[in-house]
This record gives sequence, structure tokens and C-alpha cells, in this order.
Amino acid sequence: MSHTEAAPAESTPKLALSELSPQTLYDKCVALARNLWWTWHPEVINLFRDLDPIRWRQLDHNPIALLAEFTPERLEMRASELVLYSRINYAYRRLKEYMNNTQTWGRTHAGVLGSKPVAYFSAEFGIHESVPIYSGGLGVLSGDHIKSASGLGIPLVAIGLFYDQGYFKQHLDIDGYQREEYLATKVENVPMEPATDDEGNQITVSVDTRTGQLLAKVWLMHVGRIHLYLLDCDVEGNSPEDRELTSRLYGGDHRTRIRQELVLGVGGVRALAALGITPGVYHLNEGHSAFATLEAIRERMENDGQSFDNALRDVAQHTVFTTHTPVPAGHDRFDGGLIEEHLGPLRDRLQISYEQLMGLGRVEPHNEGESFCMTVLGLKLSRRANAVSQLHGHVSRRMWSHLWPWRVEEEIPIGHITNGVHVPSWLAWQMLQLYERNFPVGWLQSMGEHEVWQRIHQVDPGELWEVHYALKNLLLSFVRRRVSRQCRRRGESDAVVEAARNLLDPNALTIGLARRFATYKRADLFMSDPERLYRLLNDPERPIQIIVAGKAHPADEPGKQLIKKIANARHDGRFANRVVYIEDYDINVCRHLIQGVDVWLNNPRRPLEASGTSGQKAVLNGGLNCSILDGWWAEAYDGSNGFAIGKGTTHVSDQITDQRDAEFLYETLENEVVPLFYERDVDGLPRGWIQRMMNSISSLAWRFSAHRMVMDYTRTAYNTAAGGLSCDMSVR
Ligand SMILES: *Cc1c(COP(=O)(O)O)cnc(C)c1O
Repeated sequence: MSHTEAAPAESTPKLALSELSPQTLYDKCVALARNLWWTWHPEVINLFRDLDPIRWRQLDHNPIALLAEFTPERLEMRASELVLYSRINYAYRRLKEYMNNTQTWGRTHAGVLGSKPVAYFSAEFGIHESVPIYSGGLGVLSGDHIKSASGLGIPLVAIGLFYDQGYFKQHLDIDGYQREEYLATKVENVPMEPATDDEGNQITVSVDTRTGQLLAKVWLMHVGRIHLYLLDCDVEGNSPEDRELTSRLYGGDHRTRIRQELVLGVGGVRALAALGITPGVYHLNEGHSAFATLEAIRERMENDGQSFDNALRDVAQHTVFTTHTPVPAGHDRFDGGLIEEHLGPLRDRLQISYEQLMGLGRVEPHNEGESFCMTVLGLKLSRRANAVSQLHGHVSRRMWSHLWPWRVEEEIPIGHITNGVHVPSWLAWQMLQLYERNFPVGWLQSMGEHEVWQRIHQVDPGELWEVHYALKNLLLSFVRRRVSRQCRRRGESDAVVEAARNLLDPNALTIGLARRFATYKRADLFMSDPERLYRLLNDPERPIQIIVAGKAHPADEPGKQLIKKIANARHDGRFANRVVYIEDYDINVCRHLIQGVDVWLNNPRRPLEASGTSGQKAVLNGGLNCSILDGWWAEAYDGSNGFAIGKGTTHVSDQITDQRDAEFLYETLENEVVPLFYERDVDGLPRGWIQRMMNSISSLAWRFSAHRMVMDYTRTAYNTAAGGLSCDMSVR
């Protein structure tokens, strides 16, 4: 495979200091901070951190905010104390090389996209903790998708919304109950600039509704080579209420939701037109953006004089739709009143009736009892649709089979492309060093290829274990810092705050469990049998400890009760200091957890996990997955690369499924995980465990990388959709 990232070739030449005036030095740092390329380059992250390690942490690792506290002169002083000149210069040159490199995989494999890029729509993008426009898995997936598209050189532009308050910050009160806080982000600390047209005018788009016009300005964010355009309703001309339309992610009621989705879909397509971008493919990542197809039809009708039917066919041929939700309640639905209020003016221009429009969002077009479903719209208006794991493909085909009543289930045109993670974003620096020492030169350019990762088997087991142990210690110090801070904020006693500084044991088997606290994810499954758990945690020879994190949706009361139950385990003598809860799960917390745990635990109620990606992040860093055979793990587990909970069966009764799975969970921990971890050779190394770490890395890292995922999308969906080839999704 060809190059995907510019490799640093020559060594760093010595610079005359005069070449770097304070202002030049400062400008180079700002240029680095303003392209999110830095978020997956540890040498640049370390550079920012070294400027002021304490402020760096306090500012949520935001280099723009950090640099704002420096004058060029002070920066220069700091740089000379630390001899940072060559590092800044080197990083800057690597960024330039990266941006200018045209020898990419995309150039040879996505040529057909040429000047008509993929337009990738998503309601959230999780790129870094300092850019809070994501809530969880869907956003992180979008972020990883565009980072890999950048690395591979795929012609792609991304469209999303700018939420100035993002998703909530989570604190637990003294009773362990979740409290939500929304903090406004300072726009000047976000690495984006107003998007402009050819003449340099700031782009603003408008969308008519029956009750008035909605305006949105367009921001441009640079994520490596990818342009991410973000629409923002906080503009003059909007009513005070509408100015807040895009302040929060997944906040508000149905009306807020449809208005956000109108701006994302219809506004997004208008923004592309204003930018002079003609997409060759529309990729709708989840149903939120599906209104985009209607606006694309309008463009074809009004600009090219096509009929509605022809325009619809044409748009569908160029549209790729990805569904993420096997839970029926997870699909957006709107009633006819909201649809007519918001899509009415567009419907007039499409020259279709209210009934015709509603039919596009209904399984049975004429069923007046059926509301308008965004997923149905996405499926009807795309010729390529996919789920996000093999098992989720089966589930989705069954779930939507009534849309194609004349077909048997296997022929329902929904395929699957399994999710993956952006390797450099999730790989610990120490692990990266280990791979650099042992893998072929330039291996990061081929991280989606199987062969590269086989080298892990030649690594000295002691070396791998040592790196892992160091990362585990870093995780434990992070946990201690966070927990003592949590206790202090809740006003707990000095003794409690102090005790938190000595939590956890680096030699104990450490299990991580972090997810959105939806009840079907059953985060408390490990607590089903407290006595059995007690024995596992407190075994004098072979103890285990569990670190938990995760937010519940603000409206999800049962989810909040789950959090409370787990967080309050610390007051129970049987579990104290062995079950630890970290507040405010975000990309930063996730990164620490997946880089340091021995085991990543996931036990959703099968088959409700569409894919899951956090376990894939653990793989890269030597963590072993212990999971229900659901989502990605159902196709990943091979008997020797992690642990399976149960046999992939489900009972019609949730209660019985849960009881069985709890039993399986304890059995797996007691009979497989704990014994293997504590089986040591004369050197004190757990040989069998390390072998499993190696099997996990070699068999999974490439397959569940976002590079592999984006290559799959390109080969099986983008290229054919761009060519307007008419076919059913054929990627399963
Ligand atoms: C990776 C990631 C997720 C996705 O995790 P799953 O539970 O495996 O779907 C969610 N939230 C954050 C912050 C992440 O980094």
C-alpha cells in the first residue's frame, strides 16, 4: 500500500536563532494549535504540555487557550529555557509536509471522487476533549472517521453543528446522584474560523419554515487535510430562542431536535453550495442528517430541471446511509405537524404533497398513524445502507425487513462495515515507542494492514509487560488525582481526600468499565451477586479492582440510579477502595482508562450493542477484552485473543438473560481471567496472559482500525456511489 502520512525523512537541522523571532515562533505554535492534526501527534502534544504542564491540564489540554496566556516574548523565554526551538520547528515542518503530501492511498484508490468529494454528515464529532461537540460513541466514531480519511487522503468534507455548550459536564453529589452542568465554550478558544466564499464573505445559510426563517453561520475547522464545516445558529437575525438552538447537543424537546436536524441536513447542503463544493457522495452518519437528501433533490430539480422522481433516483444513487441503532427508541421520529412546519416550504419547492413527503419517512407510506422516521428516510433515499458490525447487520435487516416486504431477510439491502478506531489517537505514547522499536519502518502508514501487526509476536514479552505496567501506573495516578478532587469538591473530610491519594494497587488485576449508562448496557451486572463479587475483589492472593465511568442521559432516571448504585459502593466496606467511580467520562478519561487497564469489560444485553469501539482502543494498548459476544466482539473473538462472556445466546425474557449473563460473567472472571493473570513464571511474568495480549494486538488492531474502516467505505460504497452506479449495498 502506498504512503498515507508524510514520513519525517531528514533529521532536524540546527537553526540560527535569528531565524525564529519571538513572533515567528509564536505564529508557528498557533499554526500547530489551529489544525487538529496535533491531537494525534504525541510529539506536538508533549511540546504544548511542556510550555506549562499545570495550565495545560487546567485548560483541558487546549493549546489555543494556553497560547493566549503567552506573549511571543514569554513564549520565547520559555522555549529557550527548555530548548524547544527545534521541536517547534520540526513539528511545524511535519505539519506542512503532511498537508502537502499528495502520495496518498486515496489518490490511487479514490480517484473517482476527484473534485467531487464525499460530504460526510454527522450530528457530533469527537475529535479531542478540548473541542466539546460530541457526547459519546457516535461522535468519537465520526472524529476517527475523518482523521483516517485525512491520513488516507480521501477527498472528503465533513458537516456538523457547532454546540457552544456541547454536552453536559457530570458531577456526582454527596449521595452519588448525577448532576449536569453546561459550560459555555469560548468561541475564540475553539480552533475554527468563519468559512468564507470566493469573495471572502462569511457564509451564512438560511432555511425557511412555516413559522419563520432560521439562519446559521458556517465555521471551518481543520482536522489534518479534512475541512469540517460546523453550522451555528447563534447569529443576529435569529430570535433569541433560535440563537440557542445549537447550544446543546441532544438537549431540548422534539421541536428543538427537528430544528437542529433541519439546520444540519438542509442547512448543511446549502452551506456546501455556498462554498462551491459539489459532493459526489452524501454519507449520512445516522439518521439525524437525512433531510439533506431532500435539499439535494431540490437542487437537482431547480438547477438541472429534473423531475422529482428522477432527482430522487439520482440523489439516492449518490447517498450512503449508516445506521447505528438496534434499539427501536433510538430512532428519531417526528409527528406530521412538526414535519409540515419545518419541511413545508421545501416540500412546496419539491412540488410534492404532504402525504408524499410523510410517505418518505414511513414504513407504510399511507399509514396515517405512522410518524416520520429519520432512519426510514435515510434508508429510502440511499442506495447503499450499512450497519456497523456483522451482527448489527443481521439485526438491522430484520428490524427494517418490512420496508422491503417482497424480499427475504438475507436480501434486505442493508450491509455492514464494522467500526474501527483511529490508531494514533488512542495509542499511548509508550506503546507507540514500543511499536516504533519493533515494527517495520513507516508502519503507521499501513496500520490498516494485517502484516504490520504480526511483528508483535517477535517483541520480548518482558518488554511488552513492562510498558503495560508503566501505563497501568499512569492510569492509577490519574484515578487517584481525579477521585481526591471529586471528594474535595463534594466537601468530604480531609481523611477521605487523603485516602483517595493511595487508592488501588498496581499489582492487582485491574478492570475498566466505561460507557453511557443506558440500562441495556447493564453496567452493574458485576454487582448482581455481592458476595461473589466480594470474594473476587478481596482474594488475598489474587485480588481484582474495578474502575467505572460513564454518564447517563439527563432524562434517563434509571441510568442515574445505576450510577448511584455503583458510585456508592465505596461506602460499603466490602467494596470500598476496590470499586472506583470516575466522574465526567469524556475522551480524556477514556484515553487514560483504555491505555492502562488489564481488562476492558463490556456486558450489554445482546444484541443491543451496535458495535462499540472503546474495547478496540484497549486492544492497541495491550488491554484484553472481556465481553458479551455482541457488537464488534461477536466477530472479533477467536478463543485466544481475549475473553468471551457466555456463548452468544439470548433468552426472550430479559430477566433470565440477565441472570444467565451474570453467572457467565462471574464464571469467566473466576475460571479464566483471574487464573491466567496470576499465573507467573520464575521471572514473575504472566506468560499466558502476555501471549493473549499479543494475539489480541496481532489479530485485532488492524481489523478494527478506522483506516481499515474508511478503506472499506471507499472501496465498497464511496467509489460506486460517486460513479452513480445503481446497485444494492453489497458489502456484507
Ligand atoms: C470511544 C468512546 C466511546 C464509545 O465507546 P463504546 O461504549 O464502546 O461505544 C464513548 N465515549 C467516549 C468518550 C469514547 O472515547
